[in-house]
Amino acid sequence: MTQKDITEIKELLSESKNIVITHHKNADGDAIGSSMALNTYLNLCGHKSVVISPNKFPDFLKWLDTKNEIIIFKNSTNETNLINNADLIFTLDFNNLERCGDMKDLVSNSKAKKILIDHHENPVKYADYMYSDTKISSTCEMIYHFIEKMGDNNKINTSIAEAIYTGIMTDTGSFKFSSTSSTTHKVISDLLDKGANKTKIHNEIYDNNRIEKIKLLSFALGKIEVISEYSTAIISLSQNDLNKFNFKKGDTEGIVNYGLSIENIKFAAIFIENKKEDIIKISFRSKGNFDVNVFSRDNFNGGGHKNASGAVSKVSMSSTIINFKNALKNYKTQLN
Ligand code: 5GP
Ligand code: MN
Repeated sequence: MTQKDITEIKELLSESKNIVITHHKNADGDAIGSSMALNTYLNLCGHKSVVISPNKFPDFLKWLDTKNEIIIFKNSTNETNLINNADLIFTLDFNNLERCGDMKDLVSNSKAKKILIDHHENPVKYADYMYSDTKISSTCEMIYHFIEKMGDNNKINTSIAEAIYTGIMTDTGSFKFSSTSSTTHKVISDLLDKGANKTKIHNEIYDNNRIEKIKLLSFALGKIEVISEYSTAIISLSQNDLNKFNFKKGDTEGIVNYGLSIENIKFAAIFIENKKEDIIKISFRSKGNFDVNVFSRDNFNGGGHKNASGAVSKVSMSSTIINFKNALKNYKTQLN
C-alpha cells in the first residue's frame, strides 16, 4: 500500500461510512479474527460496519463473535442491501473474488470502493486499494499494521487485540511457520500488553474439542497412507466417514498436519468429501522448499501459500486421488 493509498483511505474514513467486511468461504481463525478486529475498530471510529461471512464458520471461533455480529450470507434482502448500499467493502484473507462463494457477483457489482487486505500469493487486482503482502504471517498481522498506518494503535483494545492474536496464532501454526517474523513477535508483544489473554485464546481454539472430533482424528490417523517414493503422506475422509463422527464444520482442521509430522515426509495432503456440494475439498501442506501453492495451482486450480494451500476437486474421491498420484510423478526430484 503506497503513502498515497494510506492518505486516501484516511480521507475516506474521516467521516462515517457504511462498511461491509467479508472474507473467504469456509472461514478460518485468520479470516474471522481479522474481520472481527477490523469491524470492532471501524465501529469504534464511528462507522456502521458489519461482517458478512460467505457461509457457516467453525464453532471454535464463535467466542470471537460474542455480540453475534457476523451475518452468514444467505442471499437475503438484508444482506443484498448491505452490500449494495455500502460505501466501502473490505475483502480480507483472500485475493480472488471466486473465493467468496455466492457473494462474488454482489461484491463485484457493488458501487462501494473496495479495499483488499491479504497475504496470499498471486493476487487478482479487483480492488481499488490493494494491501497485499505475501511475506506477512497472516491477514490479522496486516490488520494490526493497517490500524497503525491509520495512526490508531492506541484504539487497539483488548477485544481487537484478542481477535488479531487468534489469526496470527492459527495462521502461523502457533508461531512456528517460517512466515513468523521478528515483527510478528513484536506485534504479539504489543497485543499482550493491550490485554490479550493468550491462555484463554489457546484454550478456546485448541483445547475445547467435542469428543467426536477427537475420535474422527483418531480414525483419520488410522487411514494415513505414506507414499515414501515421494516423501508424501495422504489422508482421505468420505462423507460417510464424517457422518459416523457427527461431523461439524472445523472438525477436520489441522488433521493434515499430522501427515507432515511423520519423519522424512515433505508433502501432506488431505481429501475431504462434501456430498452436499458434490466436491472434494483438498488441503496441501509442505515442509521446506516444496511449493504447494504452485502444486495446487498447476494441478487443481487452487492456491494459497508456499507451505499451505488448498483446492476443490469436482470429480469423485477415487478419481481425485488418482489425479493426485499422477501429478506427484512430475515432482519426484523436488520431493527427494
Ligand atoms: P486450508 O487447507 O486450510 O483450507 O487452506 C490453506 C490455504 O490455502 C489457505 O491460505 C487458503 O486460503 C488457501 N486455499 C484453500 N482452499 C483454496 C482454494 O480452493 N483455492 C485457493 N485459491 N486457495 C485455497
Ligand atoms: Mn490467512
